[in-house]
Amino acid sequence: MEKFVYLFHEGNGNMRDLLGGKGANLAEMTRIGLPVPFGFTITTQACNAYYESGKTIPNLVEKQTIEALAALEEKMGKKLGDPQNPLLVSVRSGSVFSMPGMMDTILNLGMNDETVVGVAKLTNNPRFAYDSYRRFIQMFSNVVLEIDTFFFEQLLEDTREQKGYSVDPEMTAEDWQEIISGYKEIVKKHTRKEFPQDPREQLFLAINAVFNSWNNQRAIVYRRLNKIPDHLGTAVNVQSMVFGNMGDDSGTGVAFTRNPSTGEPVLYGEYLINAQGEDVVAGIRTPQPIATLKEEMPEVYQQFADTCHRLEQHYQEMQDIEFTVERGKLFILQTRNGKRTAQAAIRIVVDMEKEGIIDKKTALLRVDPDQLNQLLHRRIDDSVPKTILAKGLPASPGAATGQVVFDADEAEQLGNEGKKVILVSPETTPDDIHGMVASQAILTSRGGMTSHAAVVARGMGKACICGCEALKIDMKGKFFTVGDTVVRHGDVITIDGSTGEIMLGEIPMIDPELSEEFQQLLTWADEERKIGVRANADNPEDAKKSFEFGAGGIGLCRTEHMFMDIKRIPIVQKMILAENFNERMEALEQLLPMQQDDFEGIFEAMQGYPVTIRLLDPPLHEFLPDKEELLVEVTKLQILEPQSDELKQKEQLLKKVRQLDEFNPMLGHRGCRLGMIYPEIYEMQAKAIFYAAAALAEKGMAVKPEIMIPLVGHVNELKQMRQLVIDAAVKVQEETGKQFEYTIGTMIEIPRAALTADKIAEEADFFSFGTNDLTQTTFGYSRDDAEGKFLQAYIENKVLPENPFAVLDQEGVGKLVEMGVKLGRKTKPSLKTGICGEHGGEKSSIDFCYRAGLDYVSCSPYRVPLARLAAAQATI
Ligand code: ADP
Ligand code: MG
Ligand code: MG
Repeated sequence: MEKFVYLFHEGNGNMRDLLGGKGANLAEMTRIGLPVPFGFTITTQACNAYYESGKTIPNLVEKQTIEALAALEEKMGKKLGDPQNPLLVSVRSGSVFSMPGMMDTILNLGMNDETVVGVAKLTNNPRFAYDSYRRFIQMFSNVVLEIDTFFFEQLLEDTREQKGYSVDPEMTAEDWQEIISGYKEIVKKHTRKEFPQDPREQLFLAINAVFNSWNNQRAIVYRRLNKIPDHLGTAVNVQSMVFGNMGDDSGTGVAFTRNPSTGEPVLYGEYLINAQGEDVVAGIRTPQPIATLKEEMPEVYQQFADTCHRLEQHYQEMQDIEFTVERGKLFILQTRNGKRTAQAAIRIVVDMEKEGIIDKKTALLRVDPDQLNQLLHRRIDDSVPKTILAKGLPASPGAATGQVVFDADEAEQLGNEGKKVILVSPETTPDDIHGMVASQAILTSRGGMTSHAAVVARGMGKACICGCEALKIDMKGKFFTVGDTVVRHGDVITIDGSTGEIMLGEIPMIDPELSEEFQQLLTWADEERKIGVRANADNPEDAKKSFEFGAGGIGLCRTEHMFMDIKRIPIVQKMILAENFNERMEALEQLLPMQQDDFEGIFEAMQGYPVTIRLLDPPLHEFLPDKEELLVEVTKLQILEPQSDELKQKEQLLKKVRQLDEFNPMLGHRGCRLGMIYPEIYEMQAKAIFYAAAALAEKGMAVKPEIMIPLVGHVNELKQMRQLVIDAAVKVQEETGKQFEYTIGTMIEIPRAALTADKIAEEADFFSFGTNDLTQTTFGYSRDDAEGKFLQAYIENKVLPENPFAVLDQEGVGKLVEMGVKLGRKTKPSLKTGICGEHGGEKSSIDFCYRAGLDYVSCSPYRVPLARLAAAQATI
């Protein structure tokens, strides 16, 4: 015979699936002898049985409930509905995962016109008895009979006003009696029936209501959003009442065993004297901090503090505890693992390890890497009130304040003058990078979490909000509106990239703190992990940040970002527009020392750790002005200054832009295909790297450059480019007389490269899986088009489980990675392998990389701490 009902002492903490979280913990606390009011739990299986029998309580469940009730009555020496000595109970729902939308708790069940008299006599406290009765009618009517609380509150308020009271405690027993009559009339009016007087009927109606609440709209939506299966069901807890509203020696409260916002190991909570249940959180009266309980009720406080300590030791976790004091006696009503901020999460596990409660592995597993993001960026001081103007997608965490600008050039100019600006634009393109660099933050009205603005901002560790559709931007008029509010060019706003909130004016902020505990946790992570963590960094500042955050090298240095610099772009353009080899060489020779400078800075910042440098990757037209804009300018000049030199120049430029125009730039003339056709470009870059290496060798500093050839699809491409790089190295070594080590490898970002990795490995010292492009080329999606047009719908309709540009598609793209590693190592067992797509900073992808046998992951500097932790978790 299936057991559907468990008395508290029959269960334990491991029975969450059957008893729900609340029930399992009530059983566990009973088992270890804590003062828990006795009761029983009707299982989640009973809930499922209820639905299977067409929403009726099956006979077996009813029978076992009545038996459990008898056991409870026996134990308490009271009977449900007994006018002389009535038992009162609470009915509490509780599923496996705590779920908003589930039925609210009903307190004081068992009250009726007769038992209320009994309670009044027994407690010698009629005021308390009638107050409890009216609370019961109100809760039961709301939760079970579905009558809006508003009607009851209204009556309460009217009565209070009429009697000239300001707070409830002024009500007398007679006042409450009057209100009870009023309440009953409300019930009659809404249900056309009397308020149920039979306590058993009350109990089963309440159990029914709990089961029904499993499938109310709110609960269903919540489950869908949080991927909680529908078949789990909810349990029902029936528990004898204890009363915090029996007078000044009674009270009720909630407490955390440690401070949930800082992690400080002190009790943290609030209580109210002479109050019941939800009064503390309801905010009707202001509760007192738990510390004052020490003075008001020293013995109770000590007992509570001891219990908290015991619960924490028992669960080996910070607990969130509900308690009630009835006439000086303490009862524990609930315990669960407490929710906490990232800062607190870290402090708590590190403290607990030191206190010997948990070991290092457990400590590492308990902190969610995603939470760390909060700690690595400046953030808004939550203690200051703020008004939110609009909300967009929280695309890149961190907060920033600055003047609104609408143009990347202006952003750069003001930024370089030391002004704080926020770049606001419908969306951004690679042309805006220089402005983004100089801005405090980026705000767009279009585009998703993986739009250009979002990706670039995350890479730079800059705050960014995307897709804020409430923003109507007028680029010409230089203002934007949100409803009636107009924000003009130069106005100051604050944005919070962690929440997506936009606010007017300046809001106070707190600096990121890498606390001592944080450092400690990361040190443990480093001891545990077996996969390296590098950073993607394109300039010396980012390299320094990466080093500070504990990166063991640079996994991807994109040289094109160096080309985008405002002072260099004219030279880059000259190089592109060159009519012949000599002209091109001239421009390249000007660029060389500039790139060399950057490389020296990066090598120095990395202090001897390996630095992987990717030679030029994007198509050349990305360095030229926009075609449409240029056309407008040319047309204008043709009318206004038809004879000018400027026109001639612009026309020539336009011609080149048109020549370089591609049908599909993502698959066009880019990557090593540039080096194949214009070897002098790659040669210049290779030389710049080697001159930098020689310069550092001269200073006696260690350098480990790793030259990476992008977008290789056929081994012959790599073979040719490898020879080019070797030749450059030989030349520089001969010229400078300095020796330095270097390696040459390739990015694997085209399926053909993964499929022929055994061949490609013959020419490569290392593989770096460029999973951004590999995802594009494997799915055949152009990212910019996919994210704007259909990807969102795909995810919503569950065609794809996740955005494959954010979370590595292990099944498809991952298979190519595994194949690439395997084939490559077959040819060259010493082949070094890594990943440098954005996936390198995402925890499930890091776990995959570890299992695939990669040597390292590489991610943006700000994600390095996260990746160190996730890499440790992958090995545990
Ligand atoms: P929630 O899941 O919303 O916290 P609970 O079932 O924990 O709901 O209960 C709501 C409130 O009622 C809590 O303050 C709790 O302490 C109180 N409560 C529940 N059962 C009892 C009881 N048997 N005696 C006294 N107070 C109770
Ligand atoms: Mg609770
Ligand atoms: Mg690529």
